[in-house]
Amino acid sequence: MRPSRSLLEEVQRRTINKVLVANRGEIACRVFKTCKTLGIRTVAVYCDAESNGKHVQHADEAFRIGAPPAATSYLRGETIVQVAKDHGVDAIHPGYGFLSENAEFAKNVLEAGIEFIGPPSGAIISMGSKSESKIIMTDAGVPVVPGYHGEDQTEAHLTKEAARIGFPLLIKAVSGGGGKGMKIVRNIDEFSTLLQSAQREATNFFKDDRVLLERYIERPRHVEVQVFCDKHGNGVFFFERDCSVQRRYQKVLEEAPAPHFSAELRKSVGDVAVKAAKAVGYVGAGTVEFIFDTETNEFYFMEMNTRLQVEHPVTEEIILIKGRPLDLVRLQIETAEGKPFDFTQEDLAINGCCIEARVFAESPKNNFLPGSGNLTFVEEPAEGRFGDVKVRLDTGFRSGDDVLVHYDPMIAKLIVWGTDRPTALRGLRKALDDYHIVGISTNIEFLKKCCDNEAFAKGGVTTKFIEEHKETLLAEDKLPTNVTALAALNAVLSAPSNEFSFHVNGSSKANVPFRVHGAAESVSVQEVQRGSYVVSGPTFSHTIKPCAALKPGYSAAHIDGALRVEYKPIVLPHQVAILLPTGTYTLQREPLPEGFGDVKYQAGGASRVLSPMPGKVAKFLVANGATVVQGQNVLIVEAMKMEHLVKAPKDGVIVFSFKEGQMAGADQVLATIETSD
Ligand code: ADP
Ligand code: ADP
Ligand code: MG
Repeated sequence: MRPSRSLLEEVQRRTINKVLVANRGEIACRVFKTCKTLGIRTVAVYCDAESNGKHVQHADEAFRIGAPPAATSYLRGETIVQVAKDHGVDAIHPGYGFLSENAEFAKNVLEAGIEFIGPPSGAIISMGSKSESKIIMTDAGVPVVPGYHGEDQTEAHLTKEAARIGFPLLIKAVSGGGGKGMKIVRNIDEFSTLLQSAQREATNFFKDDRVLLERYIERPRHVEVQVFCDKHGNGVFFFERDCSVQRRYQKVLEEAPAPHFSAELRKSVGDVAVKAAKAVGYVGAGTVEFIFDTETNEFYFMEMNTRLQVEHPVTEEIILIKGRPLDLVRLQIETAEGKPFDFTQEDLAINGCCIEARVFAESPKNNFLPGSGNLTFVEEPAEGRFGDVKVRLDTGFRSGDDVLVHYDPMIAKLIVWGTDRPTALRGLRKALDDYHIVGISTNIEFLKKCCDNEAFAKGGVTTKFIEEHKETLLAEDKLPTNVTALAALNAVLSAPSNEFSFHVNGSSKANVPFRVHGAAESVSVQEVQRGSYVVSGPTFSHTIKPCAALKPGYSAAHIDGALRVEYKPIVLPHQVAILLPTGTYTLQREPLPEGFGDVKYQAGGASRVLSPMPGKVAKFLVANGATVVQGQNVLIVEAMKMEHLVKAPKDGVIVFSFKEGQMAGADQVLATIETSD
């Protein structure tokens, strides 16, 4: 329906000249980028630890809002509104996370006479509760996963509902987000423990212990629709994204359009999503998330995210509006200004395919444990359109910046478009090779393995993808011996003269101790002729002749007279990294200098119960001295507000070596299991 002229005139038009972004990192940078293209002034807010952050660098003005924890900085709505009022800000963009889905904040912004670049607070409230939103959707005729979304939160009632729904089922925090506060329950015996754990997590994260229960779908795909409404009653969908590649219920790879989707299916979910948005009087950018049961081909509404989504770039890259590209942030700003759409659903077309990889500071091998620390050296893939491929990198960090423990460990989003899906995938794979990060563990190698996976290449994988392909996705490649040789040579050549006895006392041989694949490996470096070195390890010997490099800032060498490599060595006290066109290879040095070293991820003896991560021993689930069986949940470790169940590694009598409430390091022995034999 077209809005009437008088209705158009009723909506106040205002010009936005200055925008404050109540956020940090890549999303703040992303919003500033569009503001710049529109000539809009930009204001950043920052915590003490990010006063030189990339998002501060990219804003015209920046204001301090407090100490790093979110509660004392990016969640301080009142302070942020005050900054905006004091400095002539016309509109606030909340980004994602933090205050983006806080209805109170949206309301306060408007009451301060500032435009909120997001939906009305009423829509945030309706959709903010996973329960209420499901009731609204059911009333609007949108299918939801069968479950319990009610008010009665007593354990007795929830247990009764759980039995009715059947197992497996999922407990979710009603106010949940970011994959937090979810527990799969496989049978009724686990229900009570997991319910209490979910409630505690929900309280910790969302200050709301209410939960909902729903049927757990074993092999679903996560398909979501980007919707958009202006202030004049027009609503469209910018088609769908498939975000099925997840770990810990959080997206890792996202793409648009969804692979193997028929035009009819595309239109029917799109229409349902717009209907959902309209049911709550939505304005601006929103995402309606669906779960698609691959066993029954049925769609269910899951939740609506009332904000710009992390993965919005994949939609931007594939949409053409009457042949023009889509900038969702620009459309958000224009919508906030009161501008009606100058296009309809029929004007939208899909062009090619786009895949986004979230680059995280984390340790995939250690259950994707989030990491933090200094990004000692970063080299990024080149951005731009290269024929059939376009590379875009949305990042909030530069070389030398710190990934802070206080926030999400996402470093960047690598977004690669191609004329078709195989081209996009190949482009992404190549861009990942060109992405080098030294200093902290990242998931870059893991992402490469995902790209190389046949099932992923085929398209249409389920949310079980990572779990089902764990073995191959986490497999460690053998370190090429010529890389070890380059690392040893560079350690020697760049060392202060007293570290190795090379050249110093006339001898031209030095030994470099490394730790390779968990074992000590001593590599010898000998200058056999001027500018020619023989580098030997336990299983190899290579001749390396350094030569002039073609790539600025790089080194080059001939190896064994046949191979010519261009590489960049990064020599640090605790490691040597060699950057090559195939990726980053990092060698640990031995012995590690004091204060250096990764957490040791050894499996531990079968009779010991190890802490899966640094955290608090939150709760014992069995008494000290109790007889336990293998696989039984024995205690809970809480880290980063999330609870992790720790299981007994075998049958026996448990003896705790920690007290409830004590802090434990990763792999510390929390208990031993004693057997009579
Ligand atoms: P998307 O659905 O946009 O892909 P995620 O669910 O991964 O986003 O969450 C986006 C960001 O917002 C992440 O940084 C996540 O940690 C954070 N986040 C999402 N919801 C919440 C919430 N309710 N409370 C705190 N942080 C949240
Ligand atoms: P969040 O607010 O944390 O994003 P969602 O409700 O969107 O929470 O769920 C996050 C993810 O959990 C989904 O993308 C999906 O992979 C999984 N999930 C959610 N509900 C179900 C379900 N009923 N069955 C199976 N998996 C589910
Ligand atoms: Mg979600």
